[in-house]
Amino acid sequence: MVREITILSGKGGTGKTTLTASFTSIAKEKIVVADCDVDAPNLHILLKPRVRAEEEFKGSKVAVIDKGKCIECMACEENCRFNAISNLEIDPILCEGCGLCVSICPVEAVKLEESVSGYVFVSETKYCPMVHAKLNVAEENSGKLVTLVREKARKLAEQKGRGLVLVDGPPGIGCPVIASLTGIDLAIIITEPTESGIHDLERILKLAEHFGIKRKVIINLYNVNMDNTRKIRELCEKNNVEVLGETPYEPLINEATVKMIPVVEYSPLSDVSKKIGAMWGKVEAELGF
Ligand code: SF4
Ligand code: SF4
Repeated sequence: MVREITILSGKGGTGKTTLTASFTSIAKEKIVVADCDVDAPNLHILLKPRVRAEEEFKGSKVAVIDKGKCIECMACEENCRFNAISNLEIDPILCEGCGLCVSICPVEAVKLEESVSGYVFVSETKYCPMVHAKLNVAEENSGKLVTLVREKARKLAEQKGRGLVLVDGPPGIGCPVIASLTGIDLAIIITEPTESGIHDLERILKLAEHFGIKRKVIINLYNVNMDNTRKIRELCEKNNVEVLGETPYEPLINEATVKMIPVVEYSPLSDVSKKIGAMWGKVEAELGF
């Protein structure tokens, strides 16, 4: 049976990807890793995947005019609320695929066609297989793409006999986060001791609880504001959520990131690497693998 863990945070830049990369470096052959932060993927910077297969992602539709049928009544151009049609040419970036032009065209000269919104990659890293994606500029539907990345990662884990998919999730609490949460075994939420960090944490805890997902918390930069760290610990206790661990402000993490290496590999004997190792040990014990 393949398990799935998603690493989440209320916003970007809270150490989510740094921790995912370090966990990947520790877990290696036990996992398949997936980057579901499809709007701003950056796990590849630390894991340096070599792409083995690439697939188009068709997540949206755009209108296409058949000039042979068009009688140039201009009804579509005059009624498109998104100003996507100019001189009977459709701008695929502005077209929202709403279908209005299709329904009002008197001669059925317009149809909606699927467009390529991005790409999904199946890759190899020196640690484990990786599934990741790229959404084209100005494209939406990142929730659908997250679901596709998760499906591919799960299938790959089954094929390769690996028991866990480790997901670097999207930040926030929007549609892509919901798509990355449903049906997983554990959500690990990274937070920081700031007022906004606490607010974001409350929202994600509620969201994960709503979907019946087991939750654990990691406090990043815990020593930057001990008052807020205490508030986070209290919030977790009140919600019956374990704080898996706390990582301090540590320049080594930045150094490792600049060198594009997971910190546990860059400085394996450092205090922060030991803390990360201990956290992963707890996760393995919790899921029993
Ligand atoms: S599908 Fe909607 S947005 Fe696109 S061109 Fe037609 S009316 Fe405009
Ligand atoms: S509504 Fe149909 S016929 Fe009229 S201009 Fe648009 S595509 Fe041509």
